[in-house]
Amino acid sequence: MPELKTIRVLVWNENRGEQTSDLIRSVYPKGIHGQVAAALSAAPDIQTRTATLDDPEHGLTEDALSQTDVLFWWGHMWHHLVSDEAVNRVIKHVHNGMGFVALHSAHASKPFAKLMGTNTGRLRWHEEGLKTRLWKLDYSHPIAEGIGDYFELPQEETYGEHFDIPTPESLVFVSWFPSGEVFRSGCCWTRSGGRIFFFQPGHETFPIYYDENVKKVLVNAARWAARPSRISYVFDETKSLEKLD
Ligand code: ZN
Repeated sequence: MPELKTIRVLVWNENRGEQTSDLIRSVYPKGIHGQVAAALSAAPDIQTRTATLDDPEHGLTEDALSQTDVLFWWGHMWHHLVSDEAVNRVIKHVHNGMGFVALHSAHASKPFAKLMGTNTGRLRWHEEGLKTRLWKLDYSHPIAEGIGDYFELPQEETYGEHFDIPTPESLVFVSWFPSGEVFRSGCCWTRSGGRIFFFQPGHETFPIYYDENVKKVLVNAARWAARPSRISYVFDETKSLEKLD
């Protein structure tokens, strides 16, 4: 069997709800980042580290990003506290080939909004904790590997269209909610050399990242978004390649 190349994942979380809410802490005693990292590192080819908003430079130093194949991002209430400098570093690394996986309310995070280039990244939402059914639309997509026609989560925040994103290059999942909304819940894009995946499940008061199907999607997303190496581009080459008369 060929040796698996190790995928280096950095799981980033604002990690503030865990400090301020007993409910969130009871669902995620190790933090959302702790559980996402645990789900990912159960795969033999994935190695994880974590970083949070309150780490120096939010844990998003040049050194940390250059050792990251895929950056997972969870944020909700404190997007505005992430420095533009750190966001610009993330964007640069994505363009050069680092994968970026935006989870749940990361739809409104600074790096996701900047990578999408849309006005707001906003959507409909309400949080009674209704059931959701995620339909697999793209049967050939590696992120859907091992997932049935659909899977269900007993309780999740409802997200609905319109979702202010550019049309996805691949639409892997669409979610249905009993209150009538549908939502593009698994979307892929590329930006220069980097692959980007948005995945909707993950409201902080429900144990979403313990779900077996969700964990499978996280692992698949890390494998899909990881590129073998950073891209190096040739810019500003002004000499002709051919001898011209
Ligand atoms: Zn939420």
